[in-house]
Amino acid sequence: MKKVKAPYNKNEIVTVTVTDMGSSGEGIGRTQQGYTLFIKDAVIGDTVTARIMKANKSYGFARLEEVLVPSAGRAEPLCPLYRKCGGCQIQAMSYTAQLDYKYRKVREDLIRIGSFPEASVDACMRPAVGMEDPWRYRNKEQVPVGTDKEGKLVTGFYAGRTHSIVPMRDCLLGRKENARILETVLTYMEQYRVPAYEESSGSGMIRHILIRNGIYTNQVMVCIVAAADRLPREDALISALRELPGMASVSLNTNKEKTNVILGRKVRTLWGSDVIEDDLFIQEVRYEIPAPGGGRTAAAFTGTEEKVRFRISPLSFYQVNPRQTEKLYSLVLHLAELTGKEVVWDLYCGVGTISLFLAGRAGQVYGVEVIPAAIEDARRNAALNHIDNARFYVGKAEEVLPAYVKEQEERGQLGKVDLIVVDPPRKGCDPVCLDTILKIRPEKVIYVSCDPATLARDLKILCEGGYGLRTVQPVDQFPQTSHVETVCLLTHT
Ligand code: SAH
Repeated sequence: MKKVKAPYNKNEIVTVTVTDMGSSGEGIGRTQQGYTLFIKDAVIGDTVTARIMKANKSYGFARLEEVLVPSAGRAEPLCPLYRKCGGCQIQAMSYTAQLDYKYRKVREDLIRIGSFPEASVDACMRPAVGMEDPWRYRNKEQVPVGTDKEGKLVTGFYAGRTHSIVPMRDCLLGRKENARILETVLTYMEQYRVPAYEESSGSGMIRHILIRNGIYTNQVMVCIVAAADRLPREDALISALRELPGMASVSLNTNKEKTNVILGRKVRTLWGSDVIEDDLFIQEVRYEIPAPGGGRTAAAFTGTEEKVRFRISPLSFYQVNPRQTEKLYSLVLHLAELTGKEVVWDLYCGVGTISLFLAGRAGQVYGVEVIPAAIEDARRNAALNHIDNARFYVGKAEEVLPAYVKEQEERGQLGKVDLIVVDPPRKGCDPVCLDTILKIRPEKVIYVSCDPATLARDLKILCEGGYGLRTVQPVDQFPQTSHVETVCLLTHT
């Protein structure tokens, strides 16, 4: 077969107006010849020159060279390492433009993938819930340790596919105070000649520094990830770290595998507590009545209501943006409208975060999660908060839920379920899980999603099975990045 030639050569410079944005936050535009280019760091509305990096027959990838006419939504990235790092994808957009991008992404996926009519999507979509200050929101940082080009010990990130680390001590999404922790560990390493782990050869010792903190308790946890069971002069490391503000837990995680998975399974506490704790507070949610002719209004959050306390170990899963997580869960509770009697299932429940809030307002909650350690945490968290109406099952949602239905049917009746909450990983729900939800037919389904494409696919199935979409609410869990989180409410049609 004759190979069709791409219309451009590598390194050719073209002028493009960016008219759309892709799912990773890259700009998409067409050249004057109508050829589609994906351009990282270009913003919708920009006119730019770009260098062709890879050209296929009908589309290609280019690198931003110069912004000729900036978009109204363009902002100067705050982080000097923004383009090198890749951790953030949309710092070049103003925060208003970021929220708008996320809103449109959800809307377009619902229309394109979910086949929902535009008018019905517009009728139930609410503006994305943003942060007042969309920086320094993360309560967890995992920073690689290595050597720079000169062989000097540094913390930072791997540049592209290389094994050399670009130095970085202060990520603008993390806590400012973390820089001192990183410095302290580096000083210890220099002083006692503790080598950094070397990815290419598998030699050396320290791989990552994991830092977690509680925003209400102000407790700080440092976990050193090393390809070793012990560190040289652990006493010296401990005495340097324990002096730092809020330090509550210092531990060593052993990871000897040649892998890019950060944490190994084994953790040993070197000093202080095995865990730190933090709270999440639920807020009251109000949707203001829209002005006549105006669009849908955004959610407003007022006054704190109940709180739940969580234990966080180096290995446990815990939401990384606690302020927005509070809003996310407040929205779930607002949409659930529980009265204290309901039977609720929380599928993909992790360490039981959503389940424990639901338990405070429902009759009985059942949580399902595939990772046994997360369920152990969920049970401990329930006990810590004196919650006794939440039961947790280890297993896949698509297996546990059908087994429950089968058991109930054998007993001659399908027990009432009022609400099912799902919060699946990016790949969405298994079809068997969705079928079982349709069989149980709870009055309400709340879908929390971290991927609008699989959300749209799954909502289509639920709506073809007798549900109607009532509310679609994007929540910005990860400002400066292209990740989009959404909460949706469905009820019977
Ligand atoms: N609701 C939790 C966690 C959501 S993350 C919170 O808000 O904190 C999604 C969770 O689904 C992960 O904990 C993952 O381990 C779990 N998971 C993945 N596949 C699953 C499956 N098939 N059945 C049940 N849980 C699953």
